[in-house]
Amino acid sequence: MGDVRIDLHAHTTASDGTTSPTELVSQAHDAGLDVVAITDHDTAVGWDEAVDAARLQGVGLVRGMEMSTRYHGMSVHLLAYLHDRDNPALVAELARTREQRAARVRAMVDKLARDYPLTWDDVVAQADGATAVLGRPHIADALVAAGIVPDRSAAFEHLVSTSGPYYVRYHPTPTDQAVALVRAAGGVPVLAHPGAESRGQILPDDAIATLVDIGLAGVEAHHRDHSPVQVARLVALASRWDLLVTGASDFHGTGKPNRLGENLTTGDVLDAIAAQGVTCVVM
Ligand code: AMP
Ligand code: FE
Ligand code: FE
Ligand code: ZN
Repeated sequence: MGDVRIDLHAHTTASDGTTSPTELVSQAHDAGLDVVAITDHDTAVGWDEAVDAARLQGVGLVRGMEMSTRYHGMSVHLLAYLHDRDNPALVAELARTREQRAARVRAMVDKLARDYPLTWDDVVAQADGATAVLGRPHIADALVAAGIVPDRSAAFEHLVSTSGPYYVRYHPTPTDQAVALVRAAGGVPVLAHPGAESRGQILPDDAIATLVDIGLAGVEAHHRDHSPVQVARLVALASRWDLLVTGASDFHGTGKPNRLGENLTTGDVLDAIAAQGVTCVVM
């Protein structure tokens, strides 16, 4: 692949994005992308619709997901590309995480409801049907709908912030176990925004080294939440440990300012991912 435009991280209404999988593909087309990845949080439920849309619209599609994990108390997002979504161990672990997520959203709503006119039904109404993976963005959207905050990002500044009074933790998969699960399912594990200091504590070099030993394939170095210092650090680590370097938007539709194609991955890196994954890239 030569001069191609590839964005390997985008969310849809299957989790906390605001565009359907079909709409994601058309917006990728309009943004001049050759390839887009669908990477909803902890689910592959959007894949089939995205594949149909990609074939119809002539856009390349990478089937993926962004797994919620925890490394010694730190929240870590792990992108998984081209895995077998029916792998029983992965299916079971993701089901557990989604239950944890829903219970945690419910606990946050209970806390918020003491001070604000907000109900569980208001939050569920913001998610796309029964299959969407619930998260804080849906609470944020319900707060917007109730006129309590102007937009989703404002809710993340305080009311649903990790440092705010209504935050509740949950217990997703330990990161080392997640890397192993993704590999065992024939997928390609890549750390999502590992240098995003604005999101909280970040993984130190030795932690990334541990994950490399378990099978980590790459790092998403080019991401809007990274300072130039973090980009340089991650590119250097990747070259030292022979990791793939990706870049992506982390598009969430109108839920976040991130725009499709604002960071890109090279064709060589996509070729390497395709060579390691068990699911093909739709071209
Ligand atoms: P949760 O996964 O439930 O802890 O919620 C955090 C998620 O909210 C992350 O994946 C963020 O990408 C996502 N998110 C969506 N929209 C926003 C926003 N406007 N500001 C901050 N985070 C957001
Ligand atoms: Fe998200
Ligand atoms: Fe993320
Ligand atoms: Zn993401």
